Amino acid sequence: MALKLFNTLSRSIQDFAPLDPSGKKVGMYCCGPTVYDFAHIGNWRTFVFSDLVRRYLQFKGYAVTHVMNITDVEDKIIKGVRETKTTLREFTGKYEAAFLEDLQTLNCVRPHQMPHATEHIAEIIALIEKLVARGIAYQAADGSVYFSIEKYRGGGGTYGRLLKLNFDELRVGERVASDEYDKESLADFALWKARVPEDGEVFWPSPWGEGRPGWHIECSAMSMNMLGESFDLHLGGEDLKFPHHEDEIAQSEGATGKPFVKYWLHGAFLLVEGKKMSKSLGNFFTLRDLLAKGFTGREIRYLLLTAHYRETFNFTFDGLQGARAALARIDECLGKLREIAGAPGIAPARPKVQTKQEHAETALGAPNDLLNNFTAALDDDLNISAAWGEVFKWVTETNKRLAANSLSVNDAAAELMAWDKIDSVSGIGTPVETEAPPEIIALLESRQAARKAKDFKKSDAIRDALKVKGWAIEDTQKGPKLKRI
Ligand code: AMP
Ligand code: ZN
Repeated sequence: MALKLFNTLSRSIQDFAPLDPSGKKVGMYCCGPTVYDFAHIGNWRTFVFSDLVRRYLQFKGYAVTHVMNITDVEDKIIKGVRETKTTLREFTGKYEAAFLEDLQTLNCVRPHQMPHATEHIAEIIALIEKLVARGIAYQAADGSVYFSIEKYRGGGGTYGRLLKLNFDELRVGERVASDEYDKESLADFALWKARVPEDGEVFWPSPWGEGRPGWHIECSAMSMNMLGESFDLHLGGEDLKFPHHEDEIAQSEGATGKPFVKYWLHGAFLLVEGKKMSKSLGNFFTLRDLLAKGFTGREIRYLLLTAHYRETFNFTFDGLQGARAALARIDECLGKLREIAGAPGIAPARPKVQTKQEHAETALGAPNDLLNNFTAALDDDLNISAAWGEVFKWVTETNKRLAANSLSVNDAAAELMAWDKIDSVSGIGTPVETEAPPEIIALLESRQAARKAKDFKKSDAIRDALKVKGWAIEDTQKGPKLKRI
C-alpha cells in the first residue's frame, strides 16, 4: 500500500510520491533546535516525530537524506550571549552538545547532515542577493534588508500557503524586525539584520554592511543548499507554520521561481497535564528533568510515540508509568521468545532450514500479520497508535502461543525477526542495563537491613516501593541485584 500523508500545503491526505523520477530518493528537512537552552519535551515530541518519519521512509525502502539544521544565531541566542557575557560559540556549544546527547538518549537516528547557520552565512547572503536582484527584497533606512510581501505577491507569488491569510482584512504593517510575530502583525520581515550595539561581537560583513541573518532565511538557505531548490518533505512543530515556514516558502520560491517543498508535515503540540508548558506553572520539563526523576530515554521515547502526530498530546506522569508497564509487557514476551529461539540479547537466532510445513506456518502466521498490519497502520498518515495496537495484539497472541507451548524454535526466530523490523521503525530497542541511582541503592540497602532484622513487612514494602520506581530485586548467590523493570 502507498504511504499517505497529510500535507499542510494542500490541507489534505495525499499519496506520497517523491520528486525523484526513480521514486527512490527522498530529501527531508526538519527545522532543528535553536540552541539557547536545553530542549524541552515539547521540542522532543517534534524531533522524535521526525525520527519516526525518517525511519519509516527507510523501512519502506526509500533512500532518505535527512537534514536538520542547528539554529546557532538568532534573537534569543544573542540575548543569551549578552546576558551570560560569553561568546556565541561558547553559549551555543553547550546547548548543542546537550542536544546531541539527548538525541542519542531518545534513540533518534542522527540526521545525515546537521548544518549550522553560522557556517552558511555565504549561502544566506547569496540567497538574499538573489531576492534583492529580483526586486523582492530591499534595504530599509535602518540598514536591514527586508522581504517585500507586496512585491512578491505582485510578481505572482502567493503569500499564505500554509494558512489562509485574508489580505482584505489584514492590514499589512510596514516592517517587522523580530523573527517571531503573529499573523495580525503581518509585515515585511527581516532577511538581514543590520548590526546594533546589543549584538555585541555577533556580526558578519555583507553587501549591506555588518549584520546577521534573520531566522527564516537561514532555513531556506541551508535546506536548498543540502537538498536542492525543490525537495520532498519539510517538517516542524505546528507553531512553525506561521511565520517561519510561510516565510521560508516565500523566500525560496521568490528566489528560484520553483516549487520549494512538495509535502509539509506539522506535528501538533505537547501539553503537560493538560496545560501549555511554562516555567511559571512549574510544568516545564526538559528531557534531563525526566531522566533525573528516574525515567529512561526509552520510556520517554515510547510515550512520545504513542499518539498520532496531528493530535495534541497530553504528557502526564501517569502516562510515563503506563509507558513503563507497556514496555515491560513487550520485553517479557520478547524475552520468552529469545529463550525459545536460543538467542540471548537483541539479535534473533537465524532460523534453521525449515520443513515445508514449518515454512507454511511461519510464512502465513503471526509475524507476517504483524508486519502487514503495522505497515498498514503507518501507511495511513503514520497512525502510530493503531500500529501499537497491532503490536499489543501480537503480544497477546504470542503470549497465548507461549503458554500453550506451541512455538517451535523456528517460530520464535521468525517472530523475533518480524519484531526487529518493527523495531527499526519504533526504535524502542531493548532495555539498557543502567546503573541504579543513589536513591535506589539507598532503598536496597535499607531493605537488606530490614531483612537482617527479620522485619519482613518492611523489607517487602521497600521491594514494592522499588518496583513503583521501576526497579526489581533479584536475590542471587552473590547477594541482591537491582534490575530495571
Ligand atoms: P525551537 O528550538 O524553539 O526552534 O523548537 C524546536 C522544535 O520544537 C520546533 O519544530 C517547534 O515547533 C517544536 N516545539 C516547540 N514547542 C513545542 C511543543 N510544546 N510541542 C511540540 N513541539 C514543540
Ligand atoms: Zn526552520
